Amino acid sequence: MAKSPETQYPVQVIGWAAHDSSGHLSPFKFSRRATGEHDVQFRVLYCGICHSDLSMAKNEWGWTVYPNVPGHEIVGVVTEVGNKVEKFKVGDKVGVGALLASCRNCDMCAQDLEVYCAQKIFSTGAIDTDGNPTHGGFCDLMVADEHYVIRWPENLPMDAGAPLLCAGITTYSPLRYFGLDKPGIHVGIVGLGGLGHLAVKIAKAFGAKVTVISTSASKKQEAIQKLGADAFLVSSDPEQMQAAVSTMDGILDTVSANHPIVHLLNLLKPQGKFIMLGISEKPPELPTIPVIMGRKTIAGSAIGGMKETQEMVDFAAKHNILADIEIIPIDYANTAMERLKKADVKYRFVIDIGNSLKSA
Ligand code: NAP
Ligand code: ZN
Repeated sequence: MAKSPETQYPVQVIGWAAHDSSGHLSPFKFSRRATGEHDVQFRVLYCGICHSDLSMAKNEWGWTVYPNVPGHEIVGVVTEVGNKVEKFKVGDKVGVGALLASCRNCDMCAQDLEVYCAQKIFSTGAIDTDGNPTHGGFCDLMVADEHYVIRWPENLPMDAGAPLLCAGITTYSPLRYFGLDKPGIHVGIVGLGGLGHLAVKIAKAFGAKVTVISTSASKKQEAIQKLGADAFLVSSDPEQMQAAVSTMDGILDTVSANHPIVHLLNLLKPQGKFIMLGISEKPPELPTIPVIMGRKTIAGSAIGGMKETQEMVDFAAKHNILADIEIIPIDYANTAMERLKKADVKYRFVIDIGNSLKSA
């Protein structure tokens, strides 16, 4: 017999949601499924704000399902586990990133690359297997299958660690996959925001030489002295850019807005790799000649699989890699989104859900 909605979704949750493409967030009550046999339910303590949350809330990519509770850098403490859960118990610290489900049968899932599964489901702004919208971490309670839940290392702070779950894995994964994780490799990081600043720290932990390429000259001192970058180029300065032509083995482009890429491709050595991570409303113009003449690779990369996400969080704990964050209460979320749009954050907003969102 089919379960009634009250039985199937008995867990009352309070969060903040956008209801249309204005992206404006306001308090929103909803319900989640009862903890299934493979599920972990946890109380959310902190949630980072990724630029993708802003793009999704405003439906910039055209696929947002409303109401949209943003947030996919979610950490908290387990409140309930299903009877077949093996990895977690009540009281454990856990995290959930952008991935909520996948088919677990295809080639990609078999290789622990669930994010490339055709049936993957994102943790916010998507449609769940039951036809309901998925709601992210701007709320007090999450439920997820344990396969998509990360064990949180004991020594890793939860507030500054939360952004690892998207910004961290999205930069760690391509550095590993494209062989940019070796000492002596020269990596360029374009855009010093949430992804970019963690990319600098992660690439440095791999022993790479790191150059930041930024539109903001004001970020230079901090990039070098605080984040550990070796060099800093202001992308609008033709002399600086010219001096760095053909010096880099790989570039991660984390820019969230439409921008020219030809002067970035010129920074690569022959056979260098240009990895697109940022998603702009309008795709960039692709200059073919510099790509062909240098046998350069232009590629993309999406977050990372679950196994790799756990590996990255453990790597971050070992190497003391944390985001530089501005902690905010939930009722500052709309202002934070406006500031994020203007690249006015150093370098990630993290919402203190535990102390600012009243439980249902
Ligand atoms: P963010 O914190 O806003 O950082 C983006 C940075 O891009 C800014 O700090 C700024 O750096 C630069 N920038 C902004 N506007 C620019 C413009 N008009 N021209 C040139 N540079 C500009 O964003 P984020 O959270 O790091 O996310 C970055 C992008 O990655 C977003 O598009 C997001 O949706 C996407 N993303 C992709 C994945 C994936 O799986 N591939 C995962 C997460 C996020 P400077 O001041 O240094 O120039
Ligand atoms: Zn993200």
